[in-house]
Amino acid sequence: MNWFDRAQQVIPGGVNSPVRAFGSVGGEPFFTASAQGAYLTDTDGHRYLDWIQSWGAVILGHAQPAIVAAVQRAAALGTSFGTPTAAEVQLAESICDRVASVDKVRLVSSGTEAAMTAVRLARGATGRDKIVKFAGCYHGHLDSLLVAAGSGLATFGLPGSAGVTVGTVADTIVLPYNDIEALRSLFDDHGSAIAAVLVEPIAANMGLVAPQPGFLETIRELCTAHDVVCVFDEVITGFRVARGGAQELFGIPADLTIMGKVVGGGLPLAAIGGRRDIMDHLAPIGTVYQAGTLSGNPLATAAGLETLEHLTDAAYDQLGRTAEHLADSLADAFESGGADTQITRAGTLVGMFFSATPIRNYAEAQQADHQRYAAWFHSMLGAGVYVAPSGYETMFPGLAHSSESIEITAAATRDSLR
Ligand SMILES: *Cc1c(COP(=O)(O)O)cnc(C)c1O
Repeated sequence: MNWFDRAQQVIPGGVNSPVRAFGSVGGEPFFTASAQGAYLTDTDGHRYLDWIQSWGAVILGHAQPAIVAAVQRAAALGTSFGTPTAAEVQLAESICDRVASVDKVRLVSSGTEAAMTAVRLARGATGRDKIVKFAGCYHGHLDSLLVAAGSGLATFGLPGSAGVTVGTVADTIVLPYNDIEALRSLFDDHGSAIAAVLVEPIAANMGLVAPQPGFLETIRELCTAHDVVCVFDEVITGFRVARGGAQELFGIPADLTIMGKVVGGGLPLAAIGGRRDIMDHLAPIGTVYQAGTLSGNPLATAAGLETLEHLTDAAYDQLGRTAEHLADSLADAFESGGADTQITRAGTLVGMFFSATPIRNYAEAQQADHQRYAAWFHSMLGAGVYVAPSGYETMFPGLAHSSESIEITAAATRDSLR
């Protein structure tokens, strides 16, 4: 019996996070036994050049020796204490130093938890109920943000998952990404009822969709004018697209920032941070409750601190060059094969759509040819290159990728088009 068959007996769908099941591209997932740098090795000994890098969590590459050593050192000193530690303070200081809008940080264990805290904190701090999100943006699996993409203007949400009550999402308003007019008209009508706007400053969960000029600026301006908490979900973009995240890249400060993935260096760690006056609403000094047995776990803080230390200006230059080279090489490969694609690059992230026209929002992302994406995915996998197992995901160029990684990927793409 293979691992996927065994897994399906004891784990729903055989996986612990749905996209791992390859549902949107078909076929069976491989099971990873080990990983090193840019490569994954599965339980049958096949090696794959990996463009996902644990969904961006291991920006230094798999099993990076300094991270492994830091985690080993920490483990030998005890794996969890349930008391404050010095490393938590150092990591919080490092985050505050990097992200200009962040005065204070609370460490948690997943991006979902951070987003959940952001919503509760914004509501507690403003005394308002409504929250605004954008169709196609993902903020983890908390009930109030699991809302289907509405169409048209200011669609009041319908649950996007069974088990989420209509009541839970009644205060969630969904707008199309990049739609400045919808945003203005919503704020004209409801501005004083809104607690927070949550946005991925570069959308990376509907494929990769960059913000159009003026979109983030308008969010910022309206939030300030209406005393609404502006929340940037930088779980993917944080510490990746620039030292201080997308808000540094675009020069637009958030009030609250949700961080995850990179900041945990491949261990379960995420964070919420922001303005002192808002953060101080959190317990134990404020009235908004939030807690976690494993929050600020010593193995995770060791990996996070070590990761941030490696993310120097030179590292960001390298990430930028890799992303640009990857995007250009993929665009060339698809063009030479006569395929209509949109290769999107935003900061150090790269995405691709089979589409003749640019993609600016979720509705347009759904119009892309996802069957063709699935065919490309399987052809690449057959050639030993692992790209995202869904056309609604992105590629995560990291510090372990080299020009050779890109050449292999472009060659496999050219072959896939023959
Ligand atoms: C991954 C992700 C999350 C959720 O983080 P988890 O650690 O998986 O809970 C939230 N927001 C964005 C933008 C993400 O990409």
